Parts: sequence; structure tokens; C-alpha cells
Amino acid sequence: MKVEIITTGTELLLGEILNTNFTWLAQELNLRGFDVLYQTTVGDNPVRMKEVLDIAAGRADIVITSGGLGPTRGDITKELIAEYCGLDMYMNLEVWNHIYDLLSRRNICIAANNEKQALVPSGAIVLHNGVGTAPGLVLEHGDTTFVMLPGPPFELKHVCEQELFPYFEQRFPHLGIIKSHTLKLRGIGESNLAEMLDDIIINQSNPTIALYARHGEILIRLTAKASSAEEADALIAEMQEQVEKIVGAYVYGYDEDTLPEVLGKELLFRKQTIAFAESCTGGLASSMMTDVPGSSEYVKGSIVSYTNEVKNQVTNVSKTTLSKKGAVSEETAIEMARGARGVIGSDISISITGLAGPGGGTRKKPVGLVYIAVADANGEACRKYNFGGTRTQIKHRAAMAALGFALDRLKESSQTNAEEMIHDHDADR
Ligand code: AMP
Ligand code: MG
Repeated sequence: MKVEIITTGTELLLGEILNTNFTWLAQELNLRGFDVLYQTTVGDNPVRMKEVLDIAAGRADIVITSGGLGPTRGDITKELIAEYCGLDMYMNLEVWNHIYDLLSRRNICIAANNEKQALVPSGAIVLHNGVGTAPGLVLEHGDTTFVMLPGPPFELKHVCEQELFPYFEQRFPHLGIIKSHTLKLRGIGESNLAEMLDDIIINQSNPTIALYARHGEILIRLTAKASSAEEADALIAEMQEQVEKIVGAYVYGYDEDTLPEVLGKELLFRKQTIAFAESCTGGLASSMMTDVPGSSEYVKGSIVSYTNEVKNQVTNVSKTTLSKKGAVSEETAIEMARGARGVIGSDISISITGLAGPGGGTRKKPVGLVYIAVADANGEACRKYNFGGTRTQIKHRAAMAALGFALDRLKESSQTNAEEMIHDHDADR
């Protein structure tokens, strides 16, 4: 299947925005066995657009456009393709109802030009756009399939994943299907991980394996190509087993799982509450935890002890520790965690103190130095980190590391409990 991707928009030609729709579409389509042989970018100009459509229809089986489906006069893609195919447009009531609902829910006045977005060329298949007002469209014309996709990248991806790719799988079954499964890891750096998985990475074919470092965690995406979903699942399961044999200790979840969610479930399962004392993260770790619905079951409270005064007066860090060891030190972190646990009365507490930068670093205490401590019934422990990145990245990495530390601690404590239980058991006999 020869594919041409036409991205439209004068802003693309002016170099004002990156053509991420093309790169994303090309990757996804190649992965699915389509041959992306041409790409064209054209401004919002009817004459040049017609020219481009004509050339594309002459050399590709599938012509995919992105952009120009908006409500304004400058959005002309659908109108031009309908005209090119000699088709009338009609008002599609399903699309109109969706636009009406979406705009009403967002409290946006409906303008006359919104009606334009509900116009559909006769015979076109509508690709529902759950996250925007412009639907995607598929139009068969002679031996060319035209696919029109909305320009905003988030909408384009959504329409492709939810509507277009499933449609392609049915329409072109011989190309097979693609399935991905993501493993989420923490507590290990990308280069170490890549080294540990080197053999698998070098020998990959199907499934493919890709590592992505993102927001203080690493994702491993396994993507299989097969003739059925079951076959793809089996291929993925086999490789997942190999990967987890090597790095399973760092895997905290899969696909849509998030670290705050996984930690929350662990706390809920153990009927434990957590508290935070945050300095350099300014409450970010608690905020991430409380993003999870139902977190009031286990997040008991949080103290943003940003200044030495608050560290001393609220979290009971001694003045001696602060003056002798400094606010960014193992001792301060431990006293903050112990203090927060006492003041808030939680089962476990986490403290974070560090230098988020960009200024304030010294040779002994550079920017990115962060101490994270946890306190629970078994006492306190502290870890020292040296994070890289901007202020925001350091804050984010520190918050993620803190949640990961809490998760490790909960799991360790259950191991010690289990060992103690085994000991007790032996003693009984
Ligand atoms: P349009 O539907 O053409 O008005 O596009 C809406 C918005 O989507 C534009 O303002 C851009 O910000 C974005 N956009 C359109 N085409 C692309 C593209 N090829 N790559 C990335 N962003 C795009
Ligand atoms: Mg545009």
C-alpha cells in the first residue's frame, strides 16, 4: 500500500512549528506495514492544495492529509477534497450533536462556522473525534483512499488510535496488526538499563524493544506485529519474560499505571497512611499522590517545610542539625521524616530536601543534590541522589524518587515481616 502524507498549514512552511504529525504518522504507518513513499507540505492555499492532491492521487493508493478541518475560512482541506472527488456535502447530525455537546460542556458559544465542521462529503466514513470538534474522514474515490485527519497533534493521534488504525486493520487485514505493551521502571538510569538489556536490544526483530526516559521513570515499549491479537500477545509475553528476568526488580507497573497510583494501592492494601515533609519539591510529591482519586484514604497530610524556620518549628529538625549539617543533609532529611511522622501521625513518612538550582550550588553541595528519607515503625533510612536537569526536572525526579523509595520501603517491610513470621513459625514448632 503506497501512502502519501500531506501536511497542510502555512505555519509549517514558515518553519514556525515542527511537523510532528508527519513524523508520528510515518512511524506508525511504517510499523503497520504501509509504505510511506511521499510526503508533501502545502500552505492553506486552494490552488496549490489542488495541485498537490492531484499529484498524490496519481502516485499513492492512500492519501492522508493532516490539518485544515477547523471552523474557519482558512480551513479548506475537506471542501477541496470533496470538490476534487465531485461530491456534495451534507450536515451529519451525529457529528453536529457531538460538536454541540462538546462546546456546551466547555461553556463555549456555538458560532455559525461550527456548523461547517459537521458537513461531511456524501459517502465518507466518519472517524469520530472524541477530543475535538473536527472528525476525521475516509473517502474512497476510484482507486484512491483519501483520509483526512485533524491538525492538532493530540486530536490526530486520538483519531488514529481509536478509529483509523482499527479501520485499517479490517480494511487491509493482510498487513497484520500491531500491539504494544509498556513496562514502567524506576530506580535505574537509562544507560544502565540499556546495558543490561543489550543482548535483547541487539537481537530484536519482532517484537521490537524501545526505551524511553521520561519524567523520572523509564518506559520499555515492546511492539509486536502479527496476524492476530493473540499471536501478538504471545510474542510480547515471551519477550516480556526475558526482559523481566533481567530487570524485573525495577518494574513497578505496566501501560497506564502510574507510580503514585501503584504506591497508593500498596498503602491501601496494607491499610497504612503516608505523610510528607517536602523542601525543594515544594509539595510536588504530595500533589502527585493526591492526583489519584480516593487518595484521602491513605495520604494523611503534608508539610512544605521550605525554610529552616519551618523545618525546625514544624517538623522538629534541631537547630544544631540545621546549623552544623545544613538544610541539605542526611541528618536534616531524617529528622524531617521523623518529625512529619510524629506531627501528622502517619504510619510512614517521606522527606525531601535538596538543591533544585539553578543557583546556590557549591562544590560540596552541587545543584541536584537531594536527600530523601523515610520513617516508619522500623526506624529511618536515607538515600542520597544527584539529579541532573533544570529546576523543574530536578523537582520532578526528586518527587518520583521519593515515591519509589516509599514503595521499596513498604515492600521491604513486608519481606521482613514475612521472614519474622517464618521465624515465629519455626519457634512454635
Ligand atoms: P489546523 O487544523 O490546520 O488549523 O491545525 C490546528 C493546529 O494544529 C495548528 O495551529 C498547529 O498548531 C497544529 N498542527 C497542524 N498541523 C500540524 C503538523 N503537521 N504538525 C504539528 N502540529 C500541527
Ligand atoms: Mg491550519
